[in-house]
Amino acid sequence: MKAHDGMYIDGAWRDADGRDAIDVVNPADGQVIGQVPAGTALDVDTAVRAARAALPGWSATPPAERAARLSALRDVLVARKDEIAEMITAELGSPLKFSQAVHAAAPIAVAGSYAELAATYAFEEKVGNSVVHHEPIGVVGAITPWNYPLHQIVAKVAPALAAGCTIVLKPAEDTPLTAQLFAEAVHEAGVPAGVFNLVTGLGPVAGQALAEHPGVDLVSFTGSTAVGRRIGAAAGAAVKRVALELGGKSANVILPSADLAKAVNVGVANVMSNSGQTCSAWTRMLVHRDQYDEAVALAAEAAAKYGDRIGPLVNAKQQERVRGYIEKGVAEGARLVAGGPEAPREEGCYVSPTVFADVTEDMTIAQEEIFGPVLSILRYDDEEEALRIANGTVYGLAGAVWAGDEAEAVAFARRMDTGQVDINGGRFNPLAPFGGYKQSGVGRELGLHGLTEYLQTKSLQF
Ligand code: NAD
Repeated sequence: MKAHDGMYIDGAWRDADGRDAIDVVNPADGQVIGQVPAGTALDVDTAVRAARAALPGWSATPPAERAARLSALRDVLVARKDEIAEMITAELGSPLKFSQAVHAAAPIAVAGSYAELAATYAFEEKVGNSVVHHEPIGVVGAITPWNYPLHQIVAKVAPALAAGCTIVLKPAEDTPLTAQLFAEAVHEAGVPAGVFNLVTGLGPVAGQALAEHPGVDLVSFTGSTAVGRRIGAAAGAAVKRVALELGGKSANVILPSADLAKAVNVGVANVMSNSGQTCSAWTRMLVHRDQYDEAVALAAEAAAKYGDRIGPLVNAKQQERVRGYIEKGVAEGARLVAGGPEAPREEGCYVSPTVFADVTEDMTIAQEEIFGPVLSILRYDDEEEALRIANGTVYGLAGAVWAGDEAEAVAFARRMDTGQVDINGGRFNPLAPFGGYKQSGVGRELGLHGLTEYLQTKSLQF
């Protein structure tokens, strides 16, 4: 695919308002692989107007027809999955195998799930003498990050389409080519003009214009807590709906009865995958004092194996940020047992898979989201302390519990202040609600819960 030099608005690629462009850089070698236009407030306004104009038609389209378009979209994503994987590897730097297995495959599953939900969801229900209609919210402004570039787009656009909403998407600056490819897929799938619109551009310019646009009824944002807080404040002032998927500092709690080697190995793999750029990554491993040294040795050994298998970070700024956190960990007294702040290669934005032992709760690396391949291992004396540490950050996005007995793990998980917990390595479920407790966000994505975010109710009494 050749990069488009315009915006996808009202069913066609149109000239951008301004002349500024954003270079897209491959973080593995620093090469510029394309350029996209940097959208202005006027581009955003044009796109929102197109979405608003398309809303009456799309919201009145029977759910079965919306399901058919989503099914067609899924088929296009399947047909173009190799191209998608190659594009994401080029923009994000993730190894091609991972791009194929996760970055290209997850959006196919999610698009398929919403094709099915659009066809089967009861958009109308009877409650006593009332009929309750579940109606689309309206125009959605979607702002997405770069770490799972297509998944995060599809996790917003597919339920919005299923609900009958129209959309303006502002994707991350680092991965706009994937977003352009997605716009092509939407077009190929026969989604009517104006229903989906794409404006590439900088966060503080195009993103902010979209978040603050009075013609947007719901802002759905995934990214940093700092930006999410501002978007939430602006939406509150405008009495506008908002969904926020923010950061995390998830705990991987290994109870004494667990299979320690399995829990540690899966835990390390979880943190290193996507070079640690996963909001739900289990970046804090909690181990009982009696098993601590063994767990640290296992984790150091496991991390060493990831040396050549992980990709670079998305850009030089993130690389510097993550290396800064590693230096801070050392300065605050944590013990490096794998990796470190030195760049493992001269070329590219690489960071060594890093493991810290002797991490205590008060350390920066135990509290802040690092967004890199860095694991902190903390020690606990008993279950109550483990729970206090697990719940002891401002975040609550995900987590894991390992125990010999499933019921024991479930009992612990029920006491965790977090939106998702994987029990003994439970698999990712694209139908399960995904989202945060506390400062990890507002609202849920995926499955039925993700669909209802884009609906509002109207009751008719008889
Ligand atoms: P970010 O929050 O700045 O960017 C996310 C999206 O928001 C991008 O599309 C960006 O253009 C847009 N944006 C930026 N400023 C905006 C503004 N003022 N108004 C509206 N939109 C705006 O995140 P980042 O700089 O790419 O990454 C920084 C940190 O954020 C990471 O290190 C990580 O901790 C966190 N992060 C979390 C997730 C997640 O999934 N929870 C994803 C990416 C990044």
